Parts: sequence; structure tokens; C-alpha cells
Amino acid sequence: VTTRSEAIALDDADPLAGFRRRFVLGDEPRIYLDGNSLGRLPLATRDRLRAAVDAWGERLVTGWHQWIDAPRRVGDRLAEGILGVEPGEVVVADSTTVDLYKLAAAVLSIRPGAIVVPRDEFPTDRYVLQGLSELHGRELRLLEVDAVEGPRPADVEAALAADDVALLVLSHVNYRSGALVDLPSITALARRRNVAVVWDVCHSAGVVPLDLRVHGVELAVGCTYKYLNAGPGAPAFVYVARELQTQLRSPIAGWFGQRDQFAMGHPHVPADGIERFLAGTPPILLLEAVDESVALVAEAGVDATRAKSVALTQLLVELHDAWLEPLGFKLGTPRDPARRGSHVSLRHPDAWRICRALIERADVIPDFRAPDSVRLGVAPLYTRFVDVWDALDRLRALVEAGEHARVAAVRSRVT
Ligand SMILES: *Cc1c(COP(=O)(O)O)cnc(C)c1O
Repeated sequence: VTTRSEAIALDDADPLAGFRRRFVLGDEPRIYLDGNSLGRLPLATRDRLRAAVDAWGERLVTGWHQWIDAPRRVGDRLAEGILGVEPGEVVVADSTTVDLYKLAAAVLSIRPGAIVVPRDEFPTDRYVLQGLSELHGRELRLLEVDAVEGPRPADVEAALAADDVALLVLSHVNYRSGALVDLPSITALARRRNVAVVWDVCHSAGVVPLDLRVHGVELAVGCTYKYLNAGPGAPAFVYVARELQTQLRSPIAGWFGQRDQFAMGHPHVPADGIERFLAGTPPILLLEAVDESVALVAEAGVDATRAKSVALTQLLVELHDAWLEPLGFKLGTPRDPARRGSHVSLRHPDAWRICRALIERADVIPDFRAPDSVRLGVAPLYTRFVDVWDALDRLRALVEAGEHARVAAVRSRVT
């Protein structure tokens, strides 16, 4: 088993080690393993936000001359640096929930047929699709998939066999198990059957290479506050391949999506390009945060980030097997590193109390996902190998001593 000094040696040899100093830290000995829910604040983003607030105070409404293009400008940066698509194919605006609604509704308005989504898909995705299925009178089919391995190409092939499916929505990385879905194969088989797929890349953007265009992906949404570190409530992105843009119309015909916005005419005519997926006034301050934070992730490079992510999750799995399995834990994440994203779920019947005890008594920040998972996320730009080692060492000591039995069983609103 890897020793603590071996973990430190891994950090010493890590080509990305220097990136840690570019984030707000100062909370040691706390170990933060929840960058998959909310990434740390980059120092440059803090400066950029301060400057943006000053610009607001100084420029007031005249600032709009610079701000108006931000959703597209920041989208171009994401397109090239993170998503592997072209400028003019991405805008940054609204939340993932709203952006998914836009794309799913746009597809349903031009295609008849059912909607397919995994039963254990992230709740907001399922809820948006349920709402649309009721509104458009479409059948919503919940795909049963392996709770750990996630949807496999064969599962999807079987679900699409009926030839009456309009839309498939899938997360690239499952929020609970961390399973990394075979995006190239599933995209290809859906295209063969002429089924539109919207990929939700919330848990992969910035930490798993995407190459969406290479893999023939046409529609995707994702958030910027997880591995892209843009902050709470930072706007999401929506990607529509250029070839599809004129065929699809956003269900929210807002003025930012209007062809000649300031002519203020009637009726609404959607803009020619990706801007047609904008709706109303975008959150300019947080767009500045997205711009800066994405630049940092792109500078590190998603390939190098992925290599370190795999090594970090491998260490988590190894220490789980050696120390935690004997204490009643079960790995809730695929063992094959090629099939997992950047977090590892440890399942335990007492996961809720263990999670609380980790936070309250061991200063380790994971999160809990119902019914029985403690999620440990590693963000390669600031999580060190020694952090993983120390966190699991504290976890094993805590469970061995029965510390979690002393935590109140009452749940808070946010888990
Ligand atoms: C985090 C996450 C979301 C978040 O949606 P919001 O609209 O930002 O609340 C959506 N889908 C998935 C798969 C996620 O992981």
C-alpha cells in the first residue's frame, strides 16, 4: 500500500503541482474533497471579480458596450479550451437546468417520439424532461442501468431499438457513482438511429477531455462551477453544432436571442447563430469569473489534468481496498480508470453519519448522496496526493473508533 511519504513523492513529481498556489487556500488542516460540487476560487478570478465590480460602479450603463458580447466571447473560450468545438458553437448563459430545457424543448418541437433518460440521472435533468413530457404529451422512459457502471452502449442500444425515440439525455459522468459513460459509442449508435442526444457534461467539463466535435456530439450543456471553478451560481454553457443551429429554436424567445436586438421590432426572429439560445440579460459579473477560471483550466490542459485525476482516483480506490473495505465500505465507482470521472463514491449503510463526522470531527469535506454514498471528489489543479492519503487515513481512524455513532441523525437541507 502507498505510504504517506510515497504520496508526498507523487506530489513532488507532479507537473501540475504549481497550480495549487493559484487558488485561495488557507483552510488547512481542512481537506477539501468537494470540488466536484463547487470548485475552489482561483486568485485571478477573485481579482477579476473585484475589477468587474469596480467597472460596474464606474461605467454603469455604458459598460454594456463591452459586456454585451460576453456570453459569446466566453463561449468561444470554452469551445476551444475545454469542449473541443469551434468558436460560434457555444454561449454561456442561464443555468444547466434552463439550458437543458432549451435544447430538449427545441428537439421535441421538430421531432416526434419518446424521451429516454436513465432512472438514476441527476434529478434536475429528469425533472426537466418530466415537465416537457407532460407539456408536449410525450412518453418519458426511465432507463434502468447498473448503479455503479452506469449506462452502457448495449443498454442504450436496447432502449432505442423500438425506433420511436426522439430524444436521449445522458450525463457524461454520473453524479453519484462517477461512472464515465462511453460517449463516442453512444453518440454514434444514436446518430445511426436518428435519435437526438443531449449530453450533460457537468461532471466532466474541465477534468475529462471532451473533443465533442471529433465524437460527433451535436448538443451539450454543462455547468462552470464544478471543475471549472467559476463560483456559486456561475452561468452554464450550451453547445449546438453549427450544422444544427438554424434547425433548432429556443423555446424561450427572449430579446438576447433576437436577430437585431436593439431594433426592438416585432415579431421575434431568432439570431442566425448560437446567440439564438440566449434569453434575457446575462450575469455579467459571473461571466467574467467564468472567463478567468476557464483560462486557468485551459492553461493547465485537460489532458494533463485527466492524467492526474486518474492517478488520484486510483489512490482513492487502492486505499479504500486496503483500509476501508474491511470496515464495511463498498466501492460505488467503476474500478476501470477509463470508466470513471474524477470522484469516487464509497458506499456504507451509515454513510450519512460518516459524512457528517468527517466534516465535524475530522475536517475533511466530502458530500453525501442518497441513499448510501460518501462522495470524494479530486480536483487535480489543487488536490494533492497527500490530501487523498490523509483524508482516507482520517476516515479509517474515525470509523474504527466509532466516532460517527456520536453524530445526530438529523439531516440538513443541503447534503
Ligand atoms: C451539477 C449538475 C447540474 C446542475 O444544474 P443547475 O441548473 O446548475 O442547478 C445539472 N446536471 C448535472 C448532471 C449536474 O451534475
